[in-house]
Amino acid sequence: MKMISLQSGSNGNCTFVETCGIRLLFDAGLTGDTTAKRLAKCGIDIQSIHAVLISHDHADHVNCAGVLHRKFNLPIWITQKTYEHATQHHRLGRFGDINFFKSGENLIFGKIRITAIPTAHDAADGVCFVIDNGEKRLGIMTDLGRTKSITSILQKNNSSQNELAAGEKKNDLCISSQKYFAGFVEQKISAFSDDYYERIILTLDGLLIESNFDIGMLSSGGYPVELKERIRGKGGHLSNIETANLIKLAGKKLKWACLGHISKENNTHNAVLDSHREILGSKFPLSIASRYDISELLEL
Ligand SMILES: [Zn+2]
Ligand SMILES: [Zn+2]
Repeated sequence: MKMISLQSGSNGNCTFVETCGIRLLFDAGLTGDTTAKRLAKCGIDIQSIHAVLISHDHADHVNCAGVLHRKFNLPIWITQKTYEHATQHHRLGRFGDINFFKSGENLIFGKIRITAIPTAHDAADGVCFVIDNGEKRLGIMTDLGRTKSITSILQKNNSSQNELAAGEKKNDLCISSQKYFAGFVEQKISAFSDDYYERIILTLDGLLIESNFDIGMLSSGGYPVELKERIRGKGGHLSNIETANLIKLAGKKLKWACLGHISKENNTHNAVLDSHREILGSKFPLSIASRYDISELLEL
């Protein structure tokens, strides 16, 4: 299985995955021309893409779905709710036909199975994806939100910034179905339990995951208070420390982790690496997905 991040971050997301003769794009946050050019740089004709799967309705993931569909005739896969919110809030243009999936479902493309797993992120109907080719499992997990309070993470790390969680709203997200775990996790998992993301990551061989912000930089930075609260709240993004702890706890099988969706304002590559190296040690295979360009080819 091959993965190339074509770009990762709030300025646009798109990830290429190829396995068992199936070529997929995850998210459509780059213009049609940029997507085509970056794929071509990797020796891939955009016309050979079998499907584009959309994770959620935020602009950096869905904005160019219409263009990819019309200009290159690519089939779009999206949940109904995400489609409705996206078309209401962004100018996606006309779609000829569209393929709907439900959050929690398995999608079968040839010999591969993709599971769309609900996230705690503050989108209309956000999912992350696990791609399973029968031998290896890859997770595309950005825009996750959090299933445990950032306060507990900070306490664990002896930080003095516990006040960051003040005003955080109680998580009222709730899902009822466990069907997306059928077949690979036997135990029943309570929806958005504290270890929700750990349970998923435990099953993975490779992982693209968000490592969005440095807690200190977000705290002292220039974002309005409400935006800071959103980012570190239940529906926001994971910080460097949280992501590193997740990988440490659950990344036992991981051949590599690629850290993405890195904030321009509230993070730096050095801050990402410092946090992850401190928690994961110097040997864990880490890669960083660029906010501006293609990143290295990663294989399983
Ligand atoms: Zn995003
Ligand atoms: Zn988002």
